[in-house]
Amino acid sequence: MADVILVLNAGSSSIKFSAFNAQPDDLPLVMRGQIEGLLSAPRFVAFDGKGEQTGKHDWGNEPLRHEEAVAHIAQFLRSHRDGNRLVAVGHRVVHGGQGFSKPVAVTPGVLDELDKLTPLAPLHQPHNLKPIRVIAERNPELPQVACFDTAFHATQPALASTFALPAALTEQGVRRYGFHGLSYEYIARMLPDVAPDAAKGRTVVAHLGNGASMCALEAGRSVASTMGFTALDGLPMGTRSGNLDPGVILYLQDELKMDTRGVEELLYRRSGLLGVSGISGDMRTLLASDDARAAFAIDLYAYRIGRELGSLAAALRGLDALVFTAGIGEHSPEIRRRACEQARWCGLEIDTRANEAGGPCISTASSRVSVWVIPTNEELMIARHTREAAGIA
Ligand code: ADP
Repeated sequence: MADVILVLNAGSSSIKFSAFNAQPDDLPLVMRGQIEGLLSAPRFVAFDGKGEQTGKHDWGNEPLRHEEAVAHIAQFLRSHRDGNRLVAVGHRVVHGGQGFSKPVAVTPGVLDELDKLTPLAPLHQPHNLKPIRVIAERNPELPQVACFDTAFHATQPALASTFALPAALTEQGVRRYGFHGLSYEYIARMLPDVAPDAAKGRTVVAHLGNGASMCALEAGRSVASTMGFTALDGLPMGTRSGNLDPGVILYLQDELKMDTRGVEELLYRRSGLLGVSGISGDMRTLLASDDARAAFAIDLYAYRIGRELGSLAAALRGLDALVFTAGIGEHSPEIRRRACEQARWCGLEIDTRANEAGGPCISTASSRVSVWVIPTNEELMIARHTREAAGIA
């Protein structure tokens, strides 16, 4: 019998869950799974800690509400409890605003504060908060902890986080926050073991998943990042545009008569790799395609990683190490190779064989910048925070 911490990562169309044994120091994984396609064709799948499938369910083409999805996961966990006891739930919450710079135990007051941040992340925050509410209603005694994607970036200096806008707007919170902080924090904590020099030095981490961003670390602390006020800035992503001249938005509104929701839909769901290629927002699909538009989208993606790397290296006043992580960063030697080619100017040399083999070190011995592949684990980071914030021994 073990005490278990449940981690929930709830998005607009999926809820991912992981359960960790709270007692051993390294928090071993007990179970994980997800419900995907909530809005179209919901599918549930679960695995035990060894990766064996333990559950599966299909709802056909009947959309599933978040409340129902949470109830299904809770029911599944109860029926596969093996005598284990749920002691706390940790949640990924995209925005902690200016007020939350570390994980926090959720109270009704905290939940109200987090609700007020919804305008800063309208497509993520409400979905992140929904399961917290559902669980608080059904099980008010169960400790819940909110872990923020913004918190790790609270160390950034004002120079890095300020837009050149009137100061009154900055004071209202219109500034750069940076996201993917749980992933960067996990990598920063891994660096002393995997790459001690990178842990002490000037390191850029490229988190390349469906969402993608890059973060400059100085001795493991965030000093700049490519995502800004929202998770729309910086690199092109699966379906998000990334960095854009703000004048484009004025043009879309004035000349093409698009309203705010239309612009939002365009920039979040129809741009990025999908928009440029017209084929897919999924990197695997593009890499497998022989269509010239897929090739161009990939070229643009690698080029933009190179440009952002230059900008972050300038913020760091030099570069000692580069780390690739998340779906594309961990699994695509091709994208790593192309991104590194863009960075040859700084003396970065990739070792072709080590890159194909997946690292962890993929640079040559003579490279002036060391290059690494380190798998991220945001769920484990949330479980660690939850154990600490909930005061579990
Ligand atoms: P999320 O941000 O949703 O957590 P992931 O980190 O899982 O996403 O990354 C998803 C992206 O990783 C997709 O574009 C997918 O195509 C890409 N990806 C996964 N495996 C590979 C691979 N072997 N080669 C290239 N891209 C991959």
